[in-house]
Parts: sequence; C-alpha cells; structure tokens
Amino acid sequence: MKTKKVITWVRDKLASLILAARDCHYSPCNREEHLVICQGKKFVVNLIKWECSCNQWLICSIPCKHTICCLGHTRQNPKNFCHTFYGVEKYMETYAEVMHTIAKVDLEPKDISEDIQPHPLRRHLGRPTCTRRKEPWEPKTGIKRSSIVKYKTCGGLGRNK
Ligand SMILES: [Zn+2]
Repeated sequence: MKTKKVITWVRDKLASLILAARDCHYSPCNREEHLVICQGKKFVVNLIKWECSCNQWLICSIPCKHTICCLGHTRQNPKNFCHTFYGVEKYMETYAEVMHTIAKVDLEPKDISEDIQPHPLRRHLGRPTCTRRKEPWEPKTGIKRSSIVKYKTCGGLGRNK
C-alpha cells in the first residue's frame, strides 16, 4: 500500500503522537478491534471503522495515540489513516488557482473621516465621581495637608486663633 503524503503540521502531529503512544500497552482482541491500555484506562480501537473509544480520531480525523499504538503493532502507517483532506493532493487542489494581479486601480482609501461621527454624549446615571482614578504606576498617596496652621487674619503660623 502506497503511503499517503500529508501536510506538514499533520506530519508533525503524528510524530508527537508516535512518541506519546509509547505509554500505551497493546493487546489484540480480534482482527478488527484492538484493546489499548493507557494510564490505567482501556480503549477499544477499531481499525476497519476508524474508531477509538476516546473519540479523538472521530473528531479530528487524525489517529489518536491509542490508534497509533495499534498501527505500530500491525505494521501500518498512521499517515494512511488520516482523512484525505489532510493530504498533500487536496492541499494542492485547494491552492491550484493562481492569484492574478489586479489591474491598476486606485487603491487609495477614500477619505471617510467625515462620515464617521462620534458617539452622542450621554451623561451617566448618578453623581459623577470627584476623584480621578489613578493610573497603576501613580503612587497611592492621598493629599497631604500641612500640619502648620496659618491664621487667616494676621497671617501668623502655628496657631489657630
Ligand atoms: Zn483513542
């Protein structure tokens, strides 16, 4: 069987899954189904129906590490068990069309500054706050009042009367 070519990130994902599959223990049940024990949990892999009981293979169409463990024991290539839309042929089909250059068109954006209007000014409910909210970098000290009292009439310092 010819090995399918897959796109780069799927190839890298499969490489990481092959390393992760080392934690799994394989035991064959029958021709279709295989039992994989991984971290104390049992997973049933069906290589004919392309299913694993963890459902990861079903969701992303890339074999999970349990499936890769089975494929390693049955000497099959995980790339052949990826969906066709991960193949290089589909990728090339997708980007087969050449992007043509655009004939000279005035690409300068129109002056739309006059069209944009600010939001209507709305007053919020309640009394406005008196104190300004400080930025995080500003020190959190309050207003310090001088402890020396100045007398209003004569202008002398240090007394209140
Ligand atoms: Zn699985």
